[in-house]
Amino acid sequence: MSEAHEVVIIGSGPAGLTAAIYSARANLNPVVIEGEPSSTGDQPGGQLMITTDVENYPGFPNGVLGPDLMRDFRSQAERFGAQMVTDKVTKVDFSARPFGIWTGNTDGEPDYRSEAVIVSTGAQSIMLGLEVEERMVGRGLSTCATCDGFFFRDHEIAVVGGGDSAMEEATFLTKFASKVTIIHRRDQLRASRIMQERALANEKIEFLWNHVVTDLHGEEKLEGVRVQNTQTDEESNLDVTGLFIAIGHTPNTALFAGQLDMKESGYLITAPDSTRTNVEGVFACGDVKDDYYRQAVTAAGSGCMAAIEAERWLEAQ
Ligand code: NAP
Repeated sequence: MSEAHEVVIIGSGPAGLTAAIYSARANLNPVVIEGEPSSTGDQPGGQLMITTDVENYPGFPNGVLGPDLMRDFRSQAERFGAQMVTDKVTKVDFSARPFGIWTGNTDGEPDYRSEAVIVSTGAQSIMLGLEVEERMVGRGLSTCATCDGFFFRDHEIAVVGGGDSAMEEATFLTKFASKVTIIHRRDQLRASRIMQERALANEKIEFLWNHVVTDLHGEEKLEGVRVQNTQTDEESNLDVTGLFIAIGHTPNTALFAGQLDMKESGYLITAPDSTRTNVEGVFACGDVKDDYYRQAVTAAGSGCMAAIEAERWLEAQ
């Protein structure tokens, strides 16, 4: 049986790496299983790895590139002795301590055992599934109005979706954009009444009902989108320089099904004002448990909380 570690951290976005910095500085010798890039959107470093300029992370008055920020988080964690493992967790067993963690073949003995586990596997924005999408992220295509709205001052832009996120993002974006078109695949919104009313009453917002986005135009920057009417199949172009996709998020929690309590939406449930999960010794931080703020700085904050809670819990054992 492999020797048990004190802390294993699963995931390496702002939450996981902040937890790594804190637990390494507390001499807990954390192992960070940082993930592996995959075609399904997984990436070590989390969602900031597919972002360009980050202007709202405190401490960077001139902004910072998402990948640069995550590289610095990572080297800061390594500086204090966090051990980084580029691998993907395939199975966990939280039924007994030390907990078991597998990274390859799920038969046989676990690859890692740990007294405490910090889960920080993050979430992914649901994308449209267009081939050009990946290339256009950060070039006019965004999944975060709070992060990128500022770059679209006086631009004509569009938001895809008909839920609360789309209404919220579109309403927020009218602070910057000259016009926001909400592209929705039906003629009825899914959003709550109050959010609908707010968007419908906003003079800068227009609705393009019964339409889906089928293509994105532009090489270096987004220059327009191709849309198709879902009822007539007719195609047309919409001249926008920004497109915000707000069709939902999926937390990366399939691995923990049946072991950690989660909401119907899949987000992990933690005790109020804490990162404690329903399993003693397992802590969750960052977007995997946050369907509300979803910011790098809040993820980092909760990573710090998880490390401190894990440390105090280990000390009490
Ligand atoms: P959501 O409620 O699941 O809505 C997703 C929207 O995107 C739906 O209108 C859906 O269309 C559309 N959609 C899904 N896949 C699509 C695709 N492939 N192409 C085009 N359109 C697509 O997601 P959400 O808006 O992110 O909200 C998630 C949860 O968070 C909800 O419970 C919401 O109430 C909550 N939330 C609350 C607030 C707030 O209160 N301030 C803000 C944001 C989110 P259909 O309608 O046709 O299915």
